[in-house]
Formats: sequence, structure tokens, C-alpha cells
Amino acid sequence: MNLHIHTPLIESRPLSLITGSQIWLKIEALQPTGSFKIRGIGAACQEYARLGKRRFISSSGGNAGIAVAYAGRCLSIPVTVVVPETTTERARSLIKAEHAQVIVHGKAWDEANTLALSLMGEDDAFLHPFDDPLLWKGHATLVDELVTEGVKPDAIMLSVGGGGLYAGVVEGLRRNNWGDIPVITAETIGTDSLAQSIQQGKRITLDSITSIATSLGAEQVCEQAWTLSQTYPTLSAVVNDHAALNACEHFLDDHRILVEPACGASLALAYEQATVLQGFGTIVIVVCGGVTASIDQIRKWNAAAMR
Ligand SMILES: *Cc1c(COP(=O)(O)O)cnc(C)c1O
Repeated sequence: MNLHIHTPLIESRPLSLITGSQIWLKIEALQPTGSFKIRGIGAACQEYARLGKRRFISSSGGNAGIAVAYAGRCLSIPVTVVVPETTTERARSLIKAEHAQVIVHGKAWDEANTLALSLMGEDDAFLHPFDDPLLWKGHATLVDELVTEGVKPDAIMLSVGGGGLYAGVVEGLRRNNWGDIPVITAETIGTDSLAQSIQQGKRITLDSITSIATSLGAEQVCEQAWTLSQTYPTLSAVVNDHAALNACEHFLDDHRILVEPACGASLALAYEQATVLQGFGTIVIVVCGGVTASIDQIRKWNAAAMR
């Protein structure tokens, strides 16, 4: 049994009319944890359980940590999530609601992660939020479902943080002999570790994260994502926070689903008729979801971003 569900694939009339392409939405926001992360993390947790691991440890205060906590509850395996002080009360309570232990430690993610790693015992498994082949294999099931549905698009668009989703989708395309379908990657200015790497021809590290799309806030993409950007047909695009936030508000109006700005980055490329979409007749947008931002928070950020 999978811990993720087979998500709906629906056409977006509003986005099709705006872009002039046929836009399909793969609605990962409807996963039980509110994001695609449960695909890879659920699969990895099941594998670690099979290998006899007795505890799951994570240092993600975001959708990855929530997915680990959910997987642990489903598999009756205790979970410890170490998060930095900056983690919102909302995220902490979502993790606690899955009956995971939350330890708050350090000012930034680095310190929380160091403590998390130091807690690792022999029977524990560490769940990385994006850099684990088990995760990519799980994320790839998203493409298996598109194949089952029989919708072969001319491009797939998704958001990139550390690049786990990107690596998983490419794995899924390749294992279904769809390796000719290009991937359009979306990031926000301030989380654009992949776009800047492609521009500079080497895997770079951002000095800091300067965007509200914190779920995309990996200072460096994983090696696999960097390699794929050099070997797989990939088109990279970047939007500003204001565009990502606007996209969240419009998407809520159009499809009655609330997503994080991390997901809004992909949607914004469609709402803003970005040139990167031109020439593709049919596009699947991975509506990756995310549960860490409320609509009030999104409106507040957007008001600030407009100033
Ligand atoms: C984790 C996450 C991303 C980015 O995924 P990566 O695998 O880190 O590239 C995008 N959107 C949401 C909502 C996420 O939770």
C-alpha cells in the first residue's frame, strides 16, 4: 500500500484561456499531507521500515517534516523532527498533530540539522527533504499516473527547491519512455539556486535565501538536479515573490485550492504568460501544494511585496 494517493488530473480552463496552451493540473495539493512530498518520503519511510529502522528523524520544519510525521504515524514508527526557532507555530502544530516529537533548536536550519544528525542511533533513519534516490523513485509515481491517464503533454512544469521533485519527475519520464518531454523549472528570485547554476555553468551556492517561498529555499540544489539540468531537456525560469503570491490568490479564486508561494512560482509562469511556455500545445503543471502558509499570510506578504 502506498502512503500517497493517485491525485486528480484536470484541465484548467482559466489557465488554458490565458496561455493559449492546453493546461492540465496534477493536483498534488490534495495529497493527505497537502504536498507531493509524501510520494517520495512515504516510499522512503516504507523502505526504511522494511530494513528494520525503528525511528525516523527529520530536520525539516516544512512540508517534508510534515510528510515524515504522517508516514511515521501510518507505519506506527516514532518520529523526531528538529526545527529551527524560525519555524512557524503553524508548521510546528501540524507536525505535532501527527504525534511526532518536535524539538526546537538553533537560529537557522543548519543548527537544527546538526542536532538532528547527532541524535541518529543505529536503528534510526534520517529523511532528507530532497537528496535521496529513494525519494526520487517515489516522486516518479506522479508521472506513472499521467501515463495511466493517457495524457502525454508537450512539457511538464514544476517548482524547484533542492531539486528532488525535478529529479523524481525526470526519473518517471525516463522509466515510462517519455524522456523526450522537456521540463520547465520554476523558482523565485532569491531561491533561484538552479537558475543561477545553469547561468554560471556550475553548481552554485546562494549566500542567503531572500524570498518568502521558503519551501524552495535550498541554498544549493542536489548534485542529481544539477546533472539533470545539463543532460535532460530543461527550461529554467524565475519569477518574483509578487508574481508567485498573486498566482496563489488567483488560483484560489479559479480552482478553490490554496497553495504555498513555492507552488505559486510555477502557476505564475502560466498566469503571466511567460515566454518559456510558448510553443507548447499541452502542458502539465505539477500543483505541488504546500500547507505552511495561510491565505491571510499570503495576502500580507503580497501587500508588502507591492510596496
Ligand atoms: C519541497 C517543496 C518544493 C520543492 O521541492 P524540491 O524537491 O526541494 O525541489 C516545492 N513546493 C513545495 C510545496 C514543497 O513542499
